Amino acid sequence: MLPTDDIVYLKGVGPQRAKVLAAEAGIRTVGDMLQYFPFRHIDRSHTKTIASVKEDDGIVVLHGTVGNIQIVSTGKYRERLTADLFDGTGYLQLVWFQGTKWVREKLKDGSKYVVIGTPTIFNGTWQMTHPEIEAESGRPTTESHQLPTTFLPVYNTTDKMKQHGLGTRALARLTETLCGCLGPVDETLPQDVLQQFHLLSRREALIAIHYPASQAQLDAARARLKFEELFFLQLDHQWAHGDRQRNSSGRVFATVGEHFNRFYNEKIPFPLTGAQKRVIKEIREDMRSGRQMNRLLQGDVGSGKTLVALMCMLLALDNGCQACLMAPTEILATQHYYTFLNMLEGLDISVELLIGSVRAADKRRMKARIASGETKIVIGTHALIEDDVVFGNLGLVVIDEQHRFGVEQRSKLWRKATPAPHILVMTATPIPRTLAMTVYGDLDCSIIDELPPGRQPVRTYHRTEPRRPLVFSFLKQQIDAGRQVYFVYPLIHESEKMDLRDLEAGLEMVQSYFPRPQYQVSMMHGQLTPEEKAFEMQRFKEGKTHIMVATTVIEVGVDVPNATVMVIENAERFGLSQLHQLRGRVGRGGGQSYCILMTKDTLSNTSRDRIRTMCSTTDGFQIAEADLRLRGPGDIQGLQQSGVLDLQIASIVDDEPLVRATRECVHDLLAKDPTLGQHPVLQRYIQHSKNKMMWSKIS
Ligand code: ADP
Ligand code: MG
Repeated sequence: MLPTDDIVYLKGVGPQRAKVLAAEAGIRTVGDMLQYFPFRHIDRSHTKTIASVKEDDGIVVLHGTVGNIQIVSTGKYRERLTADLFDGTGYLQLVWFQGTKWVREKLKDGSKYVVIGTPTIFNGTWQMTHPEIEAESGRPTTESHQLPTTFLPVYNTTDKMKQHGLGTRALARLTETLCGCLGPVDETLPQDVLQQFHLLSRREALIAIHYPASQAQLDAARARLKFEELFFLQLDHQWAHGDRQRNSSGRVFATVGEHFNRFYNEKIPFPLTGAQKRVIKEIREDMRSGRQMNRLLQGDVGSGKTLVALMCMLLALDNGCQACLMAPTEILATQHYYTFLNMLEGLDISVELLIGSVRAADKRRMKARIASGETKIVIGTHALIEDDVVFGNLGLVVIDEQHRFGVEQRSKLWRKATPAPHILVMTATPIPRTLAMTVYGDLDCSIIDELPPGRQPVRTYHRTEPRRPLVFSFLKQQIDAGRQVYFVYPLIHESEKMDLRDLEAGLEMVQSYFPRPQYQVSMMHGQLTPEEKAFEMQRFKEGKTHIMVATTVIEVGVDVPNATVMVIENAERFGLSQLHQLRGRVGRGGGQSYCILMTKDTLSNTSRDRIRTMCSTTDGFQIAEADLRLRGPGDIQGLQQSGVLDLQIASIVDDEPLVRATRECVHDLLAKDPTLGQHPVLQRYIQHSKNKMMWSKIS
C-alpha cells in the first residue's frame, strides 16, 4: 500500500472502522495511520510468570488461561466484570469496570490469552484492572512479512474506538499488517541532510517507530521523525524571514538629526550601557535598510529598554515621522508618558497620552492633532488601536511587554500606515533560547544583556508564616531608613470581589503592624478607576506613602527606585516568570533590595522548585529556562500560534540539540539555495504552508 491510499482498504478496517478512525483519530489515509505514533512500546521479551510478579514491576506481559468469568452489579447502571487468569504458577484476577459487555463477548472460559497490564495487590490478591488482552492465537503469523515483534507498540485510543474493535492491540495489528505491505514512501528530507545527520530514511523510520527491531532502532526512528518535524518548523520560520526581507519595503530612516543629537548631547540622564548602545545601533541599521523592521527587543527587567525605545522614536522624528508607544496598562502608559515628558523637557517635542480614561472632548482634539501630524510622539494603551485613531505619518511603533497583547491588536497598529511602520516589540520576559530559536526564528532579535551600573542583585528569601514578625520588623527597619515597600497579593479567586476581600484583609494586617499616622499605606487593585490608580501610584512615587499593598497590577514596568523591599504573599501561587517580573519592581535604584517570598509551610515539589530557583538566581534567562522545564511550553504566553505546541513527537524542552541542529541545517540550506530551486520537495512544501497565517510575521 501507499501512504496516499485510503485507510478503508487496509485489511481489517472496512467502512465502519474507517469512519471511526477518521472521526476519533484523524486517520484517513495509510500515511495518517503511519503517523499515528505509539506513545510507548512493551518489550515482549519481558514475559513473566504470575508467581514471579512483584509489586513495582509496572507493566508486565503474562500468558495464561482465563476462567471463572463473573459479572457483578455495582449500581443502577454499573457493573464489574472479573475473570481469573491461570498460568500454572499462580493466578491473578482481571477486572473491568467499563466496557464490560464488550469484554464479556470477547472472553472465553478456558481459552488462552496474552495479558498486558500493571499488576497490583488488592485485598491480598493479585489484580490487574483494565488489562490489554488478546487471544493467544489472535496474532497473525509474523513470518509472512518478517516484522520484528519484540517491541509491541501501544497506542492512544478512545472509548468509541474500543467499542469498534480499535483498542490499542487491534491498532497494533493494523499497523503490523500495514508495515508488512507498505510500498515506497516519499522522502521529505534532502539526501545530503540524511547523510550529514545519519538519519534513517522516512520509510524505515515510519516502520521502525511502530515495530523496531531493537531499542537502538526505535531511538533512531524517533530521532529521524523529530528531526523532520523540527526541520519543517524551522523552514517555515526562516522562509518567512527571507520572504519578508525580500518583499517588505520600509521607510528609510537615513538621518540622525537634531532630535536625536540634542537629546543625546544635552538631555540624556546617564551614559548608555554598552548593551543599550549596541542595540540602538542594531535598530538604526535596520530602520535605514529599506526593509520594514520587525524586531524583538529582549532585556531583563530594569535593563533600560524605555530609554532605548525613546531614542529610536527620536530617530523616527528626525526622519519626518511620528512614533507611538503602546503599553498594556494605563498605569504603565502614564508612567512612560511622564518619563518621556521629563526626559524631553525643553526639546520642543509634542508628546501626548492617549488612554481610555481621557475625556471624550479632549480625546477628539488629541486625535485631530495626531491625524494632522502635529503630535509627534503618542503614548497609549489599547486606545491607540481604535479605528478612529489615524496617524498623519506613523513611522515607528514600539510595543512594550508584547506578550500582553493579542496578535489581532498588534496587527492593527501595523496597518495604521503605508508603508507599514517599523515595529519594535519589547519584552522583559526572557524567552528560553530553544524557544527563541524556534518561535522567533523569523524575527530579528536584539538583547540587552547588561544592567545599568551600580545595581546590586536583589536578595531573595523564602519565609513561612511563623517568621512573619521577623519579616515585619525587618520592614520597619527599612522604612525607618527611608525606603519603601511593596506587598503583593496574587489573584486567587475567579471573582474580583473575593480577591479584593483578601487584599483588604492583607491591608488590615499590614496597617495593624504599621499604624497611621506614622506609616502611610497605599492600596492598588484592578477595581480602582484609572484616576484612582494614577493617584495612588503618584503618592507612592512621591514617597508620601511608605507601603503599597497591591495585586499584580504592579507587575509590569512600574518604576519607583526608592522601593527596595517586596513581600510577595502566597508566593507559591505565582509562576516563575511572574515572580521574576514582580521582583523586577525592586532593585531599580542604587540601594540593596530585598524580595521576601511568603508561603505556607507545606509546598508541592514544583512550588518548592520554583521558590528555590527564585532564591538562587536573578538571571531572567535562567529563570525562563527553569520555567519551561517545570511547566512545559503550554503555559507560556504568546506561543499559541507558534507551532511549537502542536509538535507531535519532538519536544521543545527535551530536544534542544535537535532544535539547534535543524536550525543551522535550514539556515545553511537556505543560504545555498535561497529560492529552494534545487529542492523541489521543500519548495512544494513551502507553497502549501504559505497559506497558513504566519503569526510571527505580524508580531
Ligand atoms: P525596563 O527594561 O525594565 O523597561 P527601564 O527602562 O524602566 O527598564 O529602566 C529601569 C531603570 O533604569 C529606570 O529607572 C531607568 O531610568 C534606569 N536606566 C536606564 N538606562 C540606564 C543607564 N544607562 N544607566 C543608569 N540607569 C539607567
Ligand atoms: Mg519597561
